[in-house]
Amino acid sequence: MVLTTYTQLDIAPTIARILDIRIPDHDGKEIWEVMRYTEGKNIEQILLVIIDGIGVTLYTKLGDTIQDLKKLSRDGLFFECKSLPPRITTPNIGTILTGYTPEHHLLYKVADVFYTPIRSVLEIASENGIKSGIIIETMGAKSMLNRVDVAIGVENTRGIVDYDRRITDLALKAFKLENVTLMAIHLRAVDNCLHHYAESWEDVMYSATTINGNIKRLIDNLSKSTLLLITSDHPVHVPKWAYVDNDSINVPLIVYYKYGHKNSTENLDQTVSTKA
Ligand SMILES: [Zn+2]
Repeated sequence: MVLTTYTQLDIAPTIARILDIRIPDHDGKEIWEVMRYTEGKNIEQILLVIIDGIGVTLYTKLGDTIQDLKKLSRDGLFFECKSLPPRITTPNIGTILTGYTPEHHLLYKVADVFYTPIRSVLEIASENGIKSGIIIETMGAKSMLNRVDVAIGVENTRGIVDYDRRITDLALKAFKLENVTLMAIHLRAVDNCLHHYAESWEDVMYSATTINGNIKRLIDNLSKSTLLLITSDHPVHVPKWAYVDNDSINVPLIVYYKYGHKNSTENLDQTVSTKA
């Protein structure tokens, strides 16, 4: 079932509710279908994956190119979420992580994150003793230092496909070695491809294949029971390619619960108990 009544503002309040923490005066609302979906599930960790630059129309057109993502949406929940203006990476990730409109969070450039009094759900989690982390590009990670428990920056020095693969590897390591409970990561291959080197639809499909591969690797290797929320910051915003999203402003939100390899009883202090 496709539900369209939500926006990017609703993701952070939903995560907060699952963690039993509170974002003060947020602009979004909790997604009750997610609360119902998680009811009674033993959620040991939460992973928020922000895929750069995939709107719902592109997501649909990609078909089996992203078959593992599609499988998650079939087996879990799928929402079409309205993206907010300006539909640019930094402010839109700010909206997703804070639950505030850009007019309220004012995070238009990475530099704005260094001194803002606005706190994301990651920071509020950390302040409440829930270990949180973020794995993004280097400057973004620097801006989150001392705001979250684990902030890992990745430099794009060997191409965007390698960058996304390292982000994925580090997410798995941070969950395993650092016992992070709430983590956000940013995968950039599709948007980077569209901005810099896509010449044909096949190039777009190739970049999407790499995203799909990283999502599959996460699913195959997350050892604890994990709630995944997979979304995007904005639809395609490169003018040459905007037609592939048909001017839609909706982005996908996939919610999927991955059972752990074992019903772990360790690290109970990090275990999130879902409230019915
Ligand atoms: Zn972006």
